[in-house]
Amino acid sequence: MNRIDLHLHSTYSDGSYSPTDVVELAHQAQVSTLCLTDHDTTDGIAEASQAASSYGIEVIPGVEVSSLYRDKETHILGYFVNHEDAQFQQHLTWLRNSRHERIPRIIDKLHHVGVDISYEDVKAAAGHGSIGRPHVAQVLVQQRYVPTIEQAFSRFLKEGSTAYVARQLPDAKEAIRWIRESGGVASLAHPGWVRQSLSELEIACRELQTCGLQGLEVFYSSHTSRQTSEYLGLAHRLNLTATGGSDFHGSTRPDIVIGVGRGNLNIPEKIVEPLRQCAKENRKTVQ
Ligand SMILES: [Zn+2]
Ligand SMILES: [Zn+2]
Repeated sequence: MNRIDLHLHSTYSDGSYSPTDVVELAHQAQVSTLCLTDHDTTDGIAEASQAASSYGIEVIPGVEVSSLYRDKETHILGYFVNHEDAQFQQHLTWLRNSRHERIPRIIDKLHHVGVDISYEDVKAAAGHGSIGRPHVAQVLVQQRYVPTIEQAFSRFLKEGSTAYVARQLPDAKEAIRWIRESGGVASLAHPGWVRQSLSELEIACRELQTCGLQGLEVFYSSHTSRQTSEYLGLAHRLNLTATGGSDFHGSTRPDIVIGVGRGNLNIPEKIVEPLRQCAKENRKTVQ
């Protein structure tokens, strides 16, 4: 049986495996179509595509864009984006810089509470990836200020804690516009993350749809079967394309496995074609 997984992270953002390793793991998991959706960057796609070609795995060019919807961090997945589009890359660069810029301010706040880590340590933890809070968390664990990544976030890094610094993010509508202008399909990621009722979600989807939202991430590692069927019903009602993926990150979220999430994720292969068709139609209007 072929599996698909349309939500994967690599070392180009906060995942622990390189794109080549992600593809290798996908191959082992019998995944035939995958999408690398690193946060705010498409830089890992070329490596993933190259690695996938020898296995006959299809790599859909993708990205996960950080944004705000009604003051809450909201992630928008972009599928079949034209990652060679200069304008699109400009937007992503701006977004990565906004992630980058807050790191020295976070470190400064940490110094004030006696946590003495350096920018160089965090940069080293990020490697070639786009630097972010997970790398600060990694250093806090390495230097034994906290035992786990989760505690690094809850004690120091998350909203409301000692060293939290807000990040400048585009509005979700703006993020959707960027994806659409590059010919991609914009899908609202992990709708179960922000705890909200189904009717609130419906209002958000309808509003974002007027700005170009075309998909909803129905199949996701942490969705209960009830959520999955509710979201599938909502996607159907609003004529949104259902998308799905594990949100694999490797060792930073060790319970999530490529293709199967926590073991029972089943992303139907048949969702790929409607997504592809949608992108095809988009490209006609963009050009
Ligand atoms: Zn996300
Ligand atoms: Zn993700």
